[in-house]
Order: sequence, then structure tokens, then C-alpha cells
Amino acid sequence: MQQSLRLRELEEFGIIRLSGEETFKIIKKIFVPKNKNTKIKGYNMKYGNIINPKNGEIIDEVLVSYFIKPRSYTTEDMCEINSHGGTIVMENILQICLENGAELAEAGEFTKRAFLNGRIDLSQAESIIDIINSKTQKESKASMKQLEGFLSKEITKIRNKILDVMVDIEANIDYPEYDIEQVTENRALNMLEEVKKDLNSLKNTFDNGKIIKEGIKVAIIGKPNAGKSSLLNALLREERAIVSQYEGTTRDSIEEFMNIDGIPVKIIDTAGIRDAEDEVEKIGIKRAKNIAEEADLIIAIFDISKKLDTEDLEIIDLIKNRKAIIILNKIDLINEECEIDKRILDLNKNIIKISALNGEGIDEINAEISRLFKINEIDSDNGIIVTNVRHKNLINKAIDFDENAIRSIKSSMPMDICSIDIKAMLECLGEITGENVSENIINEIFAKFCLGK
Ligand code: GDP
Repeated sequence: MQQSLRLRELEEFGIIRLSGEETFKIIKKIFVPKNKNTKIKGYNMKYGNIINPKNGEIIDEVLVSYFIKPRSYTTEDMCEINSHGGTIVMENILQICLENGAELAEAGEFTKRAFLNGRIDLSQAESIIDIINSKTQKESKASMKQLEGFLSKEITKIRNKILDVMVDIEANIDYPEYDIEQVTENRALNMLEEVKKDLNSLKNTFDNGKIIKEGIKVAIIGKPNAGKSSLLNALLREERAIVSQYEGTTRDSIEEFMNIDGIPVKIIDTAGIRDAEDEVEKIGIKRAKNIAEEADLIIAIFDISKKLDTEDLEIIDLIKNRKAIIILNKIDLINEECEIDKRILDLNKNIIKISALNGEGIDEINAEISRLFKINEIDSDNGIIVTNVRHKNLINKAIDFDENAIRSIKSSMPMDICSIDIKAMLECLGEITGENVSENIINEIFAKFCLGK
């Protein structure tokens, strides 16, 4: 019988990475390849044993990949020991490496070296951590674009536009006797307007970037027994929340992720909004109100089989000026088309009638969330999307300096005053790609990486 092709990710992968000048020297001491004659060029892989050079004891049977500089992840000489894995074997190999001259790498150190050695810039390095932490396809695609250098190229293009004019400005400051100030001013103004437009379009991609990265935070609110937990379950199509017939049992809140068209949607089922006597419940309600404040979207659920009461009115008040979807639940309990209360209609929000019990209308909620956040229009396949808050803040700062410089020129300030803002703008952009960035920031960024990356 022919065996089918099998594919499996290695959950406990047993790879040890070495990078730096001494790599091949150390490997030579601790690795005995089966075929000693093959010469390594570029990339290569050899099969053999890791041994303890002190006594010749075999530690594991392995494959060693060789990467000769500069053709490696860090651009340094590198080796990867591919062992059988398992805690004890890995510890033993690590120990042998350490005894023979290697030092333990810190979190993110390999990527940091790739950055410091100039193979990738800072924004590309940052995208690697985003790729690893991606929760959805769209997020990983946007991060991959950043790793490919799309953002870096755009930033470099903008910096070059600025540098081009900066040369003229400096000449003007240094040699004021050549009376070309007016020409320089006009050029600078044009450049600043153009760059402002470029930066603003980058900045505007961040709203989508934030959605791609952090997802949409949705709070389900409703009085006790309206069907919040049942709705959460129906949305997730699995029994995570506890459904109970007693009022006020969902005391704290439950958080779950669902995926709508590639976007992570975090749904929080809050405790009922209600004038509680009970202390614990009061805390739950306070939290519900706080969560509703923070949410990007509120799903307000009402029991259509009952008349609105004061608790419902409190919810109506809470969502008046918010992005919200109104859910009228338990349609299975009413026979005919019943009239919707005017106070709900007056909210002028989209109303969806459902039965959380039998699943009727649930798909419409997903579609409405998608429509409200224009999820289908978020295109991570083409173009740049700024997903990193650090980048967004630097772009905003650059825009502020750009606007200052424009104001200075328009109010006929001397060119050397304007040039201060223009230089500051260049520095902000350089911080994105890492041209001029402090060591503290670099350390902060790489500390977020996991070990071995
Ligand atoms: P919560 O307190 O708002 O979280 O409400 P639950 O989800 O715990 O639901 C309260 C009660 O209403 C439970 O007995 C549910 O089975 C019931 N329930 C929820 N949704 C529906 C529905 O669409 N139709 C009917 N008939 N009962 C429902």
C-alpha cells in the first residue's frame, strides 16, 4: 500500500542556533560528521554525531546546517544543530556548546545582530516579532509585507525627498551671498506639502493596521437573562460560557476570540446592567459599564418577549452615542411580527432579530460587524499598512514638525529656523528604520522577542 504524504510541524523542535566568528571552531570540536570529506560552501547540511570532546561520548545523532557569512540570518557564520529534541538531550548539547566557548544568546539576539549588521532595518526586525505573534492571516500578511521592506522603502523615499531639499537649504544658510532664498523657500514648501501628504496616507493606514493587529473589541451588554451568554455561545458555536436560568449568574466577564473575515474579534460578555443589591454583582455591573466604554462596538441585547424595563432603558441610554448593534433576542418565543418599541427604533441603529437558542439570525451579526468596520476593504495583500504603534507615533511626530516648518516658511522665518524642524522630521523617520535610534529603544524592541529568534 502506498503511504500518503505526511506533514507535521515539530512542536518540540530540537534546534540549537549558533552565530558568530567562533561558530565553526566550536562545531568542529563537538560535531563528528559521518562523511568527513564534503567541503562546505554557502549553505550546507551534514549528518553526524554531537560528542563530548572530553571523552568522545555521543550525545545525539544530528543534522548540522552550515551558513557561511554573509549568507545567514545574522550575516555572521552560523550553524543550526538539528537534534532529536527533548529536554535532556537539548540541555546536554547546549552544555557542550557552552563548555566549548559559546555563550547563551539573549531573547531576540539573532534578529538584533541581523539589524546591527545591516541585513534588515529596524522596522523589518520588528515585523518578525509581529509575524510570530500573528493571530490571523491578514495580520501575518501585513507583517510579511513589512519584512519584505515595503514600509522601509516608503520611508526611505520620503527621507530622500527631504534630504534633496535639505542640501539646498544648508547651502543657503552657509552661503547667504548667493541670493537664492526665494527659490529654496518655494522648493522647501512644495516638498513639505508633498511629504505631508505621503505621511498622512501612511498614518491613515493605521486604523486598519490596528484592526488587523489588535482586532475589534466587542462588548455584549444586556440585562440579566436577556441571553448574553447564549448569544456568545451561538457566535462561537461552542459552549464556553455557562448558560443558566437564574438571573445574574455571569458575574464577571467572559472573553473569547472569533475570526471574522480574517480579523480577530474579541467578544466580551459582561454581567448584566442592573441595580444590584449584592456587592459582588455591583462590581460586575461596574465592570460591564467600563468594558462598554472601552469597546469598539457594543452589542446590546434585549429580550423581545418582554416589555422594556428600567434596566433596558439604562442600556439604551448607554449606547445612544456609540457604535452599536441592537439585538432583539428570543424571537422563537413570539408568534407573529411584534412591534418594536419606539425607544429602540429612535436609536437609529441596525436592529437584528435573533434566537440565540436556535441560532436564527446569528450570521447576520457577523455580516453587520464586517460591514461596520469595512473589514472586506482591509487589504493586507497589497500596499503598506502601518501596524506598529511606535511607527505611528513617529509618523505623527514627523507630521507635526512638517506643519511647523510650513508655518515658519509661510511667516517668512529665516531658513535656519525652518531647518530645525525639517531635521527633526528626518530624525523621526530615521527612528522608524533605525538609522538614528537610541540604544535603549533598540534594547526595548528586542527584549520583546522570544529566545532563539
Ligand atoms: P444572560 O443572563 O443574559 O447571559 O442570559 P443567558 O444566556 O444565560 O440566558 C438566560 C435564559 O434565557 C436561559 O434559560 C436561556 O436558555 C434562555 N434563552 C436565551 N436565548 C434564548 C432564545 O433565543 N430563546 C429562548 N426561548 N430562550 C433563550
